[in-house]
Amino acid sequence: MYHHVKQLMYTVRIGTPDPRFGNMLLEQFGGANGELAAAMQYSIQGWNCDDPARKDLLMDIGTEELSHLEVVGTLARMHLKPLKTKHDAAHADPLIAIAGGGGVNLYNSMGDPWTADYLKITGELDVDLRSNIAAEARAKIVYERLIDFCEDPDSIDALKFLMTREITHMKAFTAALKSLGLPPFSIGRIPPTPELVSQYFDDSTGVGNKGESDFRGPWNSGGDWEVVEAPAFRELESEAAGTRAAGGDGQPERQPAASSTSRRSGTRKSA
Ligand code: MN
Ligand code: MN
Repeated sequence: MYHHVKQLMYTVRIGTPDPRFGNMLLEQFGGANGELAAAMQYSIQGWNCDDPARKDLLMDIGTEELSHLEVVGTLARMHLKPLKTKHDAAHADPLIAIAGGGGVNLYNSMGDPWTADYLKITGELDVDLRSNIAAEARAKIVYERLIDFCEDPDSIDALKFLMTREITHMKAFTAALKSLGLPPFSIGRIPPTPELVSQYFDDSTGVGNKGESDFRGPWNSGGDWEVVEAPAFRELESEAAGTRAAGGDGQPERQPAASSTSRRSGTRKSA
């Protein structure tokens, strides 16, 4: 059950209202990475969660996000209030001025309505936790940009508090994911096809105008990686596995001569 305490989680005050900044703040109120989206995503994941310990985590953070929504909404309201009466201010956000009377509503900074499409809820705890870690990273960077565009020290204080809490949540979700003890890249029940899972498809050819060529890194070399050059130009080896084998004419027909020098490091394995 929910209970409202008649205080904000973080006391909000502002200097001079800045209606244009208030409009930007709506991104964290009714936007894709905003507080309502976070509150709903974690709470509903929690209602779906059969693991009592992680459910407790999801519900605690989901509930904190509702408190963040209250802080952001209050802050945005303070900055948007002049829209109700001041002609110049109204131009900062005509929707809020005309339809909202200077009050906040569940729209993002461009006036798009909040939507459940923002939520990532899969019913798989580890998959949901990965989504949550990414969601916290997005929330953090949006707060950082709001701080960059804010000229009011008191507003910046509140935004720094909210930004910091998102990193706290990121830490907690990361620890919760790790605590599940799953092997790396183990998602769901069906194992990936062994001969296919470690193939890196090099789906580009040639050298770009600025000398860009193929790069090798830990994302495609070392370990059990096998680079498959230009799979689109190879004969289909196994329809079931979707792999393509190196054929006699396995190279693109008009591969530039420079391509042999375009591979930076690591070994090029023949498929
Ligand atoms: Mn938050
Ligand atoms: Mn958060």
